[in-house]
Amino acid sequence: MSKVRILSSIHPGKIFQSITEMRVSLQIILLLCLLGFSVISGSFLAINQLKIFRHDGFAINNLGVIRGSIQRITKREINQIQSDELISEVNSTFRNVKSKYFIDDVNTSYLQEDNVIDNYEALELSWSELKSLISDYRINKASAEQLLLQSELCWQKADFIVFSVQKINEKKHSHYRNLIILILVILSSIISAIIILVHTIVHNSLEVDAITDPLTKLYNRKYFSKVLDRQIKLSKRYDYSFSLILYDIDHFKRINDEFGHPTGDRVLIQLATLLKEHGRDVDDIFRLGGEEFAIIAPESNLSQAVIIAEKYRALTEKADFAIGHKITISAGVSQLTQRDNKESLYKRTDSALYKAKSCGRNCVIASESESAV
Ligand code: GH3
Ligand code: MG
Ligand code: MG
Repeated sequence: MSKVRILSSIHPGKIFQSITEMRVSLQIILLLCLLGFSVISGSFLAINQLKIFRHDGFAINNLGVIRGSIQRITKREINQIQSDELISEVNSTFRNVKSKYFIDDVNTSYLQEDNVIDNYEALELSWSELKSLISDYRINKASAEQLLLQSELCWQKADFIVFSVQKINEKKHSHYRNLIILILVILSSIISAIIILVHTIVHNSLEVDAITDPLTKLYNRKYFSKVLDRQIKLSKRYDYSFSLILYDIDHFKRINDEFGHPTGDRVLIQLATLLKEHGRDVDDIFRLGGEEFAIIAPESNLSQAVIIAEKYRALTEKADFAIGHKITISAGVSQLTQRDNKESLYKRTDSALYKAKSCGRNCVIASESESAV
């Protein structure tokens, strides 16, 4: 018995509806947030990366200028050509490199790692010493040899720093290469997740559409046939009773004629809602077409199914459909017999419904069958 109840309560339609209606929007919002976050952080990193590499180029170029200028100044001074303009250019290049490269948050960790700041300060000191030697040389207090030696020292220090900055640049490249790989992996995971999600949503909604009546959102006739087949098999296999109820709205044509098709549609929707709201969890409700509905009631014998059918008939009669008069339904009920197949069960139930119509409508008629399962 319990087996049947479990099987009957896991219809894909029910599961998909709850998933799509309750969770999908939340998942989409979450994924959009993730996408937004990755785009913003990706852009930030890309901009930062460009800045970080541009700064290395700037430092290498300017250190190259300092290195070359120091040699030029020394040669000129030895040849008695005073180079005050060049000296002040080198001074301002020193200041520029310091402020734009050596005092920059982005580079600090790399520079500390390689001791480059200390070396740069040592270079500045050597340059100051060279400048005072130049002043001494101009008044014959220092020799050309001393100038050349100090110039060589400056050149070596500047060259070493250029080499260090080049190394830093390579390090940055490998760091950022790893970072970019990581970002690509994360992005591709997010994109895959989106593709899987979209595929699941589309697939689920297609499945739901395929078994749903678009007007009333009840299961449709196609699904009715499938569920009926399965219930017959289950009932016979596990030997439990099962009944089918068919409903038809009385004089529905008149409602359409009197109030128009849209009102007729509204009545159909309201009746479907009534059936859904008062239905048992184990029962499945279908719109077979037009104003005909069906209920598959597992684990229900004929008398129990008649009680269910009667409940809906009475509820419908009492309900206010806002058309100025009551609406009634007729129902046919039958219980599966050992000899039944899908067609015979349906035919018998439909005959009972026909009888209910002949008996004046607004009533429930149970089919006569001798040997119920
Ligand atoms: P009875 O009591 O014998 O069942 O009479 P009836 O008028 O309900 O039965 P009949 O089969 O003559 O009319 C059914 C009507 O249902 C005819 C059709 O126009 C209407 N109908 C079928 N599908 C829809 C629909 O989706 N919307 C609306 N508004 N009307 C529909
Ligand atoms: Mg009809
Ligand atoms: Mg009718």
